[in-house]
Amino acid sequence: MTAPPAAAPANTESADIVVVGAGILGLAVAWALGQALGRDGGRSVLVVDRHPPATQATARAAALLTRARGDAATAALVRDTYAAIAALEGELEEDLGLRRVGTLHVAAGAARVEALRALVAGNADPGADPGADPVEWLDGDGAARLAPCLSGEAVERAAFMPLDGFIDPVRLADAYRRSARRSGVRIRNGLSVRAIRVERGHVAGIDTDHGFIAAPVVVNAAGAWAAGLAWSAGVGLPQAPVRSQYWITEPRPDLFPRDLPVLVMPDAGAYARPELGALLFGLRGRRSIAFDPARLPADTAGLELADSDGGWETLEEGWHTLARLCPPLFQVGIAHYVSGLSTYTADGRFVLGPVPEVEGLFMATGCCGAGIAASGGIGRSVAASVLGRPEPVELSPFAPGRLGAVDPFSPALRDACAAARSGKTAG
Ligand SMILES: Cc1cc2nc3c(=O)[nH]c(=O)nc-3n(C[C@H](O)[C@H](O)[C@H](O)COP(=O)(O)OP(=O)(O)OC[C@H]3O[C@@H](n4cnc5c(N)ncnc54)[C@H](O)[C@@H]3O)c2cc1C
Repeated sequence: MTAPPAAAPANTESADIVVVGAGILGLAVAWALGQALGRDGGRSVLVVDRHPPATQATARAAALLTRARGDAATAALVRDTYAAIAALEGELEEDLGLRRVGTLHVAAGAARVEALRALVAGNADPGADPGADPVEWLDGDGAARLAPCLSGEAVERAAFMPLDGFIDPVRLADAYRRSARRSGVRIRNGLSVRAIRVERGHVAGIDTDHGFIAAPVVVNAAGAWAAGLAWSAGVGLPQAPVRSQYWITEPRPDLFPRDLPVLVMPDAGAYARPELGALLFGLRGRRSIAFDPARLPADTAGLELADSDGGWETLEEGWHTLARLCPPLFQVGIAHYVSGLSTYTADGRFVLGPVPEVEGLFMATGCCGAGIAASGGIGRSVAASVLGRPEPVELSPFAPGRLGAVDPFSPALRDACAAARSGKTAG
């Protein structure tokens, strides 16, 4: 290992740890660093973003906090988010509005029932209380009793996980932010990071449009822009920005009561949840759209205008299969369309932890449409990794280099990441 870069010149702004990105992942890492270091922890933490906190992908999330993930490591990260919400509510002495309505995983045909059993089994935590994540199996009529908008005839079997829920993603992100601020974390917006500066194999800091900030440790939580930023340090990330989208019906509380469970319906490539008397539903579509991370605008709101068909193709393609499962959709109008960029990897796993090629560089990205659900776990485990402490959830399955050398700007990578989103069956 070479010696770290020399200390910053007197007039250079500096921090011990810089987190790039004040979306939910950057804020969750900052929160966990603040918790671990305490107000007088001796190491300064600075979060930088060009936009105000939680205004990009985070602001657009449906924010399902689905526990069944098919692999134990991801499920453990999600479980940690529930623990984080409880801890934040205790610290801030407020209710963060977690809507614990449960998730109903629906299988429309016999073949899907086996896949559903495997998905739910993957959530089992052998170390935890066996009663911690209860699952109730239902037939079609039982499912329709729980979720009256479902057609009992169209459902073969369903698995209900009553402890699941959803949350306002901006509210959760803001809770991480406020707790981090209490611990002494500084947050600066209006600062655009141009590059991560590396000297002799070590992180030296970040170059921004307002000058250089020296830091021996940088956490890249730049969401859809993370691959472009990592490339400035010579690191290729195995992820691509992929469009996610959902629709919200007109309000019909008679059809979509507030306590309707979250519905995960892989036969239709769909999920749904109640939204103030309306139904919010997402369709994944056979062909997801991935974007070149080198060509993203700084604000993805513009992307909706330039590169989107308003979700029309996906809606046309998936509507009937979904409405057969959920017939009230044949009767109601659509009031809103929401789209934004998630970042997907080809294997559907996050991109988390240290980058071996560059000392002091860590990743908290590759969200695979589950960044809200896993935020607490990602925050705690990435912070532990940064501080050289044992990771509550071991990050090796999410190692940035696990898929070998990649060209983050190649069409082949984009295709593989888009396919991962289209093939997703969990929440
Ligand atoms: C339609 C939709 C539905 C979704 N539904 C769910 C769901 O149900 N459940 C779930 O868990 N997740 C869901 N997601 C995914 C979720 O939104 C993301 O996983 C999560 O918001 C990722 O957070 P982030 O902090 O990585 O990204 P972001 O929130 O995008 O934050 C990244 C931040 O980095 C900043 N940044 C980037 N580059 C720079 C730079 N060079 N200089 C300065 N600042 C920079 C950006 O300005 C931004 O604020 C959904 C996403 C979409 C779009």
